[in-house]
Amino acid sequence: MKLLIFLLFITSLYAGEKIVLQLKWLHQFQFAGYYAAKEKGFYNELGLDVEIRERDRSKNNIEQVINGEAQYGIADSILFLYRSKKEPLVIVTPIFQHTPNVILTLKSSDIDSPYKLNNKKLLFYKKDTDGFGILAMFEHLGVKPYLDRTKDKKSYEALMKHEVDAYTGYLSNEPFYFKEKGMDINIINPANYGLDLYGDMLFTNKDEATKHPERVKKFKEATIKGWYYALEHKDEMIKIIKSKYAKNKSIKHLRYEADALEEIIQRKSIPIGTLDKGRIRYTLELYKDHGLIENEIDVDDYIFDSFNKKIDKNTILNSKENDYLKKKKVIKMCIDPDWMPFEKNDRGKHIGMTAEYKQILEKEIGIPIEVVQTKTWQDSLKFGKERKCDIFSLVMPTKERLKYLDFSTPYLKIPLVIVTNIDEFFINDISSVTNKKIGVVDGYAYGEILREKYPKMNLVKLKNLKDGLEKVRNKELFGFIGTLATTGYHIQKNYIGELKIAGKFDEKWELGIGTRNDEPILKSIFDKAIKQISLKKHQEILNKWISVKYEQEMDYKPILKWALGISFVFIIVLLFILRINRKLNLEIRSRKETERKLQELSITDELTTLYNRRYFNIIFTKLLNSAKRDNHNICFALMDIDFFKPYNDTYGHIMGDKALRDVSRCIKDSLSRADDYCFRLGGEEFAILFKGLSKEQATKLIKGIKQNIEDLKIEHKKNGASQYLTASFGLVVKDAKEVKNENELYREADALLYKAKENGRNKVCVNDETV
Ligand code: GH3
Ligand code: MG
Ligand code: MG
Repeated sequence: MKLLIFLLFITSLYAGEKIVLQLKWLHQFQFAGYYAAKEKGFYNELGLDVEIRERDRSKNNIEQVINGEAQYGIADSILFLYRSKKEPLVIVTPIFQHTPNVILTLKSSDIDSPYKLNNKKLLFYKKDTDGFGILAMFEHLGVKPYLDRTKDKKSYEALMKHEVDAYTGYLSNEPFYFKEKGMDINIINPANYGLDLYGDMLFTNKDEATKHPERVKKFKEATIKGWYYALEHKDEMIKIIKSKYAKNKSIKHLRYEADALEEIIQRKSIPIGTLDKGRIRYTLELYKDHGLIENEIDVDDYIFDSFNKKIDKNTILNSKENDYLKKKKVIKMCIDPDWMPFEKNDRGKHIGMTAEYKQILEKEIGIPIEVVQTKTWQDSLKFGKERKCDIFSLVMPTKERLKYLDFSTPYLKIPLVIVTNIDEFFINDISSVTNKKIGVVDGYAYGEILREKYPKMNLVKLKNLKDGLEKVRNKELFGFIGTLATTGYHIQKNYIGELKIAGKFDEKWELGIGTRNDEPILKSIFDKAIKQISLKKHQEILNKWISVKYEQEMDYKPILKWALGISFVFIIVLLFILRINRKLNLEIRSRKETERKLQELSITDELTTLYNRRYFNIIFTKLLNSAKRDNHNICFALMDIDFFKPYNDTYGHIMGDKALRDVSRCIKDSLSRADDYCFRLGGEEFAILFKGLSKEQATKLIKGIKQNIEDLKIEHKKNGASQYLTASFGLVVKDAKEVKNENELYREADALLYKAKENGRNKVCVNDETV
């Protein structure tokens, strides 16, 4: 027995590390480089035992890599779409510099441009994992063909038989069949219409990239070697592919494919594996302009080389954090015991959305999170102050809470609404209801904020949401303010036909984890853990707790009866869940007045995702006070981009916005400690705030940021200070105890910034000296 185990051990050593590569299509020359690396022993030499799997067209080949059925996969620019949804995948290297994915039509049909495809029948892929570049082209050009998504059943023969007007295929593959039959075709290539995207790329999942970075490097190296070999020895590879992989393809066909791919890979002008971040950024902007992707994505987060470098800093817990957790053993969490669908203490059991988030977070941090038993939200807040809980599951920052809590990046953004009796009018402008009694739950953050914002509004403190809704029903109150999710949930359950959602605040309520501020490491731990939650997971949770509930618990007759009220709730909830509320956003934009008044419910700036001025005001006070307590220096810099008006005038506002985002990202990346903050105060003005550094250290940090911005090399011809975009800084470093208040600090920094501008821009002025 021992011998057997020993033998197994030995063979497994010799066999190398087993990994699976999932192809995006059936065996053909398209994957020649991988076959070459395997057959010629390049993988083996590096200790890799690679299984190459043909595409199973009933499955999503990208999902197969995400869920770990395979460690590596091949896909085209669709990968960006997955990344924008925070799916855990990482691009290892592009192989095809261009995509071979094109549209074929018969010459006799006269369809020789995409514009002629309007309302024409195009045989297309069944799944959206294929043909993304083509869809992007249609979107780009505003063309709407009819997509017949049965390509896996029908083939190019459907085009030959005139059953469809057009066919989607690979430049390297299908044209061959038409050539063989002597049929003339048109090829419509997205590259000729402004969509020159990367074609096949090798990618892996986050797990592999994080846990086996060396293996990823080896796999990439051997694969590129394989591709050079395959293209330099086409005849040999064709023979191998024919005999071992694609037995049904003719030698002639494989030859055709090999020659066509040579053009697409372009190894003679660009080394195989070259990746141009600028080109990817351009692609992302294009997708974004056409609404194909919604989220900001950071290129560096999903390209293996850079991912590998920054992974420690931004997503993976460092040794200090791990040590802390090991010692801590368990994290105590306070929740709101009565706040469905978000959370509830159901006779001692934690249920609702945050219970599901808890599970994910536990996995990420590796130790259990235990719910502390409380009876009311007010109790929970009290426990927090008394340090009986380490974290709060779902909270929003307020001045009051910053006395004892830090706040992670928000993970739920929830619309705020006002509920009234069914017979009231819908409310367009919430600020107009100042003379009526409106309820809010005592202790809830937005109550604090609304009270500050609308001193005239007649806000009545209530014990809980049920109390509020009851009082609205009895007409003791005109309305009640709560979140769309919670009020919708309760109207649905108990008040159909009696109450309705009568108005919606434009800004969303942003909620994250609150962590005890005497253990500041908790904030960075949970920031990292939250970063790991994919959009899909978020949606699963939302769907489970909101949409399903709506469908299941809806009684048929009342829906008909009160169709108006309910569909209003229902539609908004759906939009919220699916995050396709672009139209709603347009409407929101048009109601600028309301928006201006209600900005202050969010803490992040929409354009750059940095913290906004509202949050700056909160944190500024907090950090100054804590620096005073700890006998630390307070370091505060104001920054303003140089000659930004001429930049907009020269390059346009869209580029201006992009520059603001790039600069923001750059500032963020230049800061590394949990207590370093950056904010966009407005326009092209930013604030950077931290404590505990000497004047020299702080100056070095700010000068570094100044340099990093210039090193972005954003062309700016009209900048007198450099050929690239730059910024000027006013920095104040002081013993916090010597600072009277925030205003004094702000005024000094502002004066120094002015001086930096006077002294030629692209400068840092510190405590009266220019460096
Ligand atoms: P200076 O070096 O003196 O700071 O010159 P400047 O041109 O940057 O001067 P100023 O601060 O007066 O101009 C700021 C310009 O920033 C005005 C406006 O065109 C631009 N800007 C402000 N907010 C935005 C924005 O959100 N997007 C874009 N694209 N431009 C903005
Ligand atoms: Mg300015
Ligand atoms: Mg400026």
